[in-house]
Amino acid sequence: MSTFLFNDIIVGPIRSRRMGLSLGINLLPTKIKFCNFDCIYCECGLNQPFTNSIEKELPSQAQVMEHLTHALQTMPQKPDAITFAGNGEPTIHSEFAQIIDGVIELRNTYSPQSEVVVLTNATQLHKINIVNALQKVDRCMFKLDSAIPETISAINQPANKDFLSNFVRNIQSFKGKKIIQTMFLRGLVNGKTIDNTAYVEIDALIEVYKQVQADEVFLYSIQRDTPIVLETVSKEELEKIAERMRNAGILAHIS
Ligand code: SF4
Repeated sequence: MSTFLFNDIIVGPIRSRRMGLSLGINLLPTKIKFCNFDCIYCECGLNQPFTNSIEKELPSQAQVMEHLTHALQTMPQKPDAITFAGNGEPTIHSEFAQIIDGVIELRNTYSPQSEVVVLTNATQLHKINIVNALQKVDRCMFKLDSAIPETISAINQPANKDFLSNFVRNIQSFKGKKIIQTMFLRGLVNGKTIDNTAYVEIDALIEVYKQVQADEVFLYSIQRDTPIVLETVSKEELEKIAERMRNAGILAHIS
């Protein structure tokens, strides 16, 4: 199925169900996805072998500032959100913390009503400068698609196999608002059935949401093309899962 890469540093704006009118910032290369996960549903496609020079393809802080200034100055309608997303994991950019400071400054100058939002897989929260940067933004949405290590390996294929224990520890100590987003899907991948809507999966997720004291969780399913064929979970099913979570005291939304 056809996936796509963002072809610039600034993308959009696009209408997003969660963010409203959202102007995207892509801190990753434009010709290849660069991520320490390799999610089977990633709309940017599956990882290709990284070269040693890939870091050189990332935009500099100065380029990001220049492109964002231009976009904010020329947009006919200011965005509801300035959202870090793009062709991979934004927090692996070596200047991420400085870029956050610069983006907040530009937002304050040109579009004070816009939220600064970061979508992240939460893998860099062992670094104090990343935590400090994320605690400055208006909304930080952490990815957690399963609370069972085997399912995480199958869905997200993280580079670090200790992802779950690190996630729990780091989100527990995170001082900002704890918003978690969870993608639900089913599929047959390499002869193995994957279904994170199963009862045992939801129980495990509820347990981890509680352990980390999540403020809110957003549940969603596949909305765009994926690199391999996967089954979308219907709104009705998502609503049932959300209801179970709400009954367990979790503030769960469908998005
Ligand atoms: S974390 Fe995001 S960018 Fe990375 S593989 Fe998963 S969906 Fe794609």
